[in-house]
Amino acid sequence: MSTATELTIRRPDDWHLHLRDGGMLKGVIGDASRHFARAIIMPNLVPPVVTTADAAAYRERIMAVLPKGDRFEPLMTLYLTEGTDPDDLEAGHASGLITAVKLYPAGATTNSHGGVRNFENAMPALERMAKIGLPLCVHGEVTTPEVDIFDREAVFIETVLDPLRARLPELKVTMEHVTTKDGIDYIKSSKANLAGSITTHHLIINRNAILVGGIRPHYYCLPVAKREVHRLALRAAATSGDARFFLGTDSAPHVDPLKECACGCAGIYTSINTMSCLAHVFEQENALDKLEAFTSLNGPAWYGLPVNDETITLRKRAEAVTYPEKIETEAGTVTVFDPMFPLHWQVV
Ligand SMILES: [Zn+2]
Repeated sequence: MSTATELTIRRPDDWHLHLRDGGMLKGVIGDASRHFARAIIMPNLVPPVVTTADAAAYRERIMAVLPKGDRFEPLMTLYLTEGTDPDDLEAGHASGLITAVKLYPAGATTNSHGGVRNFENAMPALERMAKIGLPLCVHGEVTTPEVDIFDREAVFIETVLDPLRARLPELKVTMEHVTTKDGIDYIKSSKANLAGSITTHHLIINRNAILVGGIRPHYYCLPVAKREVHRLALRAAATSGDARFFLGTDSAPHVDPLKECACGCAGIYTSINTMSCLAHVFEQENALDKLEAFTSLNGPAWYGLPVNDETITLRKRAEAVTYPEKIETEAGTVTVFDPMFPLHWQVV
């Protein structure tokens, strides 16, 4: 076990973040901009961000509520639909506004009913993206009712992702929030144009957190946490330094009444304590020296962006660092991810 008590790294980025809109956006933006320099902003609003004009307007709403003095760059994405216009994508990318395009199989998660059902209809957009080097971020789960929820990522790789990549090998694909050993192995076996983001919470919880001793809705997210063998594979990949793996928190706030009910929403809110949680995980894995690669170097390299000039310092304190159990927003109260162990690392 490492005995380091201080660690200075390049300022991190979050390669998968839900900021929502309106009162929720206002309430959560500061937790993201405090530690992260940039974030890939998910487009699953109601209605979704489907055109470059939608993304430009959303970016303005984000910048309007950014806490004064914070430097934070939202990297905008478009929500791929069967009607996405390839020319609009290309213009958005050329202008520097659009960093990636997001694929949600229809019905895969929160606000994804407008996602892609028939891939043939999305091929013109995907072909253009391959041509111009615009990455595709995928929510890698099939939504077929017959497929068990714990198998949906593995089946997606086999039946959707691998055929798509065989058809369009030049397309850069980010497999977001990888939750299985199958996903990790698939990324490691690929020769080019495939990388994966990993969330904070999937490094910490397995499915027992959701289901043992009572249903715990604040540990429910999609893709759902899997068996322990998968969590261990994610930890090994994240802490390996392998450039194909980087942080995407998937921090996804919902107000408590939408989580704590008969049909609770999927999403875990981790923006506020992610860096403390990650330092704990990397220290446990004796890999604090790999934290910077995971949070600050591998992501920019994959997206073709410079690493951040600024740094942050994490310090390990003897006493536990406390975070609020809940945050208040104009949209309502949001429960903060509880890693179920005391945190000692703090960004100073
Ligand atoms: Zn997400």
